[in-house]
Amino acid sequence: MPKTEEEMGFVEVIDGKYKIRGKFHIIEKNQPIFDKNENKLAGITNPRDMTYIHSYGGEAIFFESLGKGRLLATRCDNDNCLAKGSVFEPFRIYCPDCLRKAMIVDITDKAKNCARIHSFIITHRSGAFNMLPKPIKFINVEFDEEVKTILMSVLAVGEPKIGKRVIPIFRTKDPTYTILDLMFVPENTPESDLPAGFTF
Ligand SMILES: [Zn+2]
Repeated sequence: MPKTEEEMGFVEVIDGKYKIRGKFHIIEKNQPIFDKNENKLAGITNPRDMTYIHSYGGEAIFFESLGKGRLLATRCDNDNCLAKGSVFEPFRIYCPDCLRKAMIVDITDKAKNCARIHSFIITHRSGAFNMLPKPIKFINVEFDEEVKTILMSVLAVGEPKIGKRVIPIFRTKDPTYTILDLMFVPENTPESDLPAGFTF
């Protein structure tokens, strides 16, 4: 059952400090586990409801931009770094070679024009709390030679194939501010086929 406002935890940042209100830990009644054959106690269940607080730090702009239909990456612009000019997607705050803060770059158009499936995995059985439609079509997305990394994402429509051209889609209606706001579809997919809440 969905929680009421009184059963939820809320967080805001005011003057640089995290301010919390509401409930972050809810204890529910436990249940005994009985051995039905031997008619004796075997254990208990231990229900716990916790709300985690994840701080995004320097990656916050990446997640905020997904909900606005933009895919951000970073690039090393350090003249003294052998990796200068390398673009990193997934978004890396610091260049892994020189450890200097990387420049934020928008690769939405690059992704629309040249993203391809590098490899893929189809997952029929997921772990707990899965929110993706099954079977999950996990894809590794490659961009162009400037982007030195490969992005793990999900193909929302159609079947994956190595080398297939794909286009990013964004959950711009009611975003979750998580990586679930980004998926891919094959090029030429009509907008009417996109999952609810997603746009190009
Ligand atoms: Zn560097």
